[in-house]
Amino acid sequence: MAASVTRLSAHKSIVIKIGSALLVDRESGLRADWLASVAADIATLSKAGKQVLVVTSGAIALGRTTLRLPRGALKLEESQAAAACGQISLARAWEQALGAHAITAGQILLTLSDTEERRRYLNARATLSTLLRLGAVPVINENDTIATSEIRYGDNDRLAARVATMIGADLLILLSDIDGLYTAPPHLDPAAEFVPHVAAITPQIEAMAGSAGTELSRGGMVTKIAAGRIATAAGTAMVIASGKRLHPVAALAAGERATWFAANGNPVTARKKWISGQLGVAGSIVVDAGAISALANGKSLLPAGVRSVEGDFSRGDVVLVCGPDGLEIGRGMIAYDSGDAARIAGHRSARIAEILGFAGRSEMIHRDDLVMKPVAASEPVLVGEIENNV
Ligand code: GLU
Repeated sequence: MAASVTRLSAHKSIVIKIGSALLVDRESGLRADWLASVAADIATLSKAGKQVLVVTSGAIALGRTTLRLPRGALKLEESQAAAACGQISLARAWEQALGAHAITAGQILLTLSDTEERRRYLNARATLSTLLRLGAVPVINENDTIATSEIRYGDNDRLAARVATMIGADLLILLSDIDGLYTAPPHLDPAAEFVPHVAAITPQIEAMAGSAGTELSRGGMVTKIAAGRIATAAGTAMVIASGKRLHPVAALAAGERATWFAANGNPVTARKKWISGQLGVAGSIVVDAGAISALANGKSLLPAGVRSVEGDFSRGDVVLVCGPDGLEIGRGMIAYDSGDAARIAGHRSARIAEILGFAGRSEMIHRDDLVMKPVAASEPVLVGEIENNV
């Protein structure tokens, strides 16, 4: 792995996942001094021009103390009641800690379906990117209060990985009570050796994780490696670092030992790979000659360059982009449903709100969501034919 990639400064968009065991002390509750130190680290990253998102656990741990629930495993409805009480305190704690550095926090509570269902996924992604654009730090947790066990993540490691891939972050930091991956769980095997770099998550790496976790932290090494699979496959690098000290992110930036997982490509190439690998295309967009040359120059597809819209598709579907002759020139993930796309086709983006009655994206297909076909390989594509093939 290139040395630069294992430096925090090489990354621009960073998701930091914080576990309950770091943030909440079983006896004394919230560790405010620790939280203040992390908030100071986040402020340093923001000042250096990085986009930071926080995925924070701690709602259940805080709420169970407030509600005086017994130690040991909680029933599902008890942990949900605990989350309901604890989440208020958790959000307030973050608001105050970040506010001390003049950073605005925006609370986002996600469910599994918000990250896995395309429409909701796109909405969540839009809110997160708007918060980032407006300079706020999204403070994210799972919406634990009503989700039943089959439809919840249950651990914030994988939730954080999905958040990172959703917004195309280039680094996911998992702050943990252990400083990284060992060849075997170190509390069980004294001969376990530290693993500083993981180039790819192989079955051998998975075997090293064993199974671990304390009462306060749901995610042991197994869920961290699962998070690593999600993140690295989508082009996001991951690092597991110790959060046991104050200023853990600054320590990581200064080169403290941690396990770095290499990304497989970068988020944009990973998304494009996914788009070009989609077998099912739901329709096609016919564009004019001006749009063809704009797209060839790496621009986004604007409604103004669209002549017609064929097929019945939803926002987030992959559609073909064809020239006036019906030849496929590329394919991409579309930002509008087919009905809306047809209504704004041929119009300037400034008129979208007036035509549709809501302010949508100015691009029909954003360039990061568009894969151009190599010119020589073009061949006629009939949408009906493709639909029959899926
Ligand atoms: N969402 C849970 C909470 O805030 C924690 C899940 C986890 O620790 O991974 O309490």
